[in-house]
Amino acid sequence: MNGPNNRIGYCDFTYNPLTGCLNNCPYCYAREVSHGRVKPLYLSNQNVMAGDRDDPFAIRWWPSRLEEPLKVKTPSRIFVTDMGDLFGDRVPLSCLESVFEVVRAADWHTFIFLTKYPWNLRRVSEWPKNAWVGVTATDFRMADTALYRLERVDAPVRFISAEPLLDRLNDCPGTFLHQMFQIVNWIIIGAQTKPDVPPERQWVEEILREADKAGVPVYIKGRTEKYFPDLMNRPLHEFPEAAVSPELA
Ligand code: SF4
Repeated sequence: MNGPNNRIGYCDFTYNPLTGCLNNCPYCYAREVSHGRVKPLYLSNQNVMAGDRDDPFAIRWWPSRLEEPLKVKTPSRIFVTDMGDLFGDRVPLSCLESVFEVVRAADWHTFIFLTKYPWNLRRVSEWPKNAWVGVTATDFRMADTALYRLERVDAPVRFISAEPLLDRLNDCPGTFLHQMFQIVNWIIIGAQTKPDVPPERQWVEEILREADKAGVPVYIKGRTEKYFPDLMNRPLHEFPEAAVSPELA
């Protein structure tokens, strides 16, 4: 596992028993890295589950990494698969089941799952009590789909990661965010980087306002605070109460 100085910020370690993804998001950092410094390592792994084996970002399984969380004895927040998407299309169910066995066994940790494939969350019939489950939503359309799926997830923390925030999360009548914060109990906001694109002030402002009204903690990432310093008269890094390592918050 990698950590504690990882780029995600809100976790102590990253854990990648599976890498790669067949989605083709234009701003995918993990795909860029997989084609860069770790390319020889990834291509040397013959456990290709889906995709072209000449592609370092094909879906690969790493059995030697599977039990890494069990070796870390300090309760930690562990982000699962930042170098891919565990809920991506064509990820074998057996891989999910193996990861969830470890999550249940390492019950002193909190495991953070984040996906851009919310419809595949239904592949998990029972969520472990130490799982936080999130969906990336960069605009209203994605947030609406995310909410429909997250509502059906029985996990102690359900969250939205609005990173990068590319459009308004609210709908036109302006009632959606209120509804969203009845269902999710954490939100992450981040501006686009490489190239840097600031979100519009209204998008950030209304998320903060509605989250505060609902008492939902907000984790603000990256340059967002620099774009709108006057909105940042507040803690930048809030966590839901279920955090297992508050000293690292
Ligand atoms: S879903 Fe995630 S891992 Fe897959 S291509 Fe998009 S950003 Fe990358």
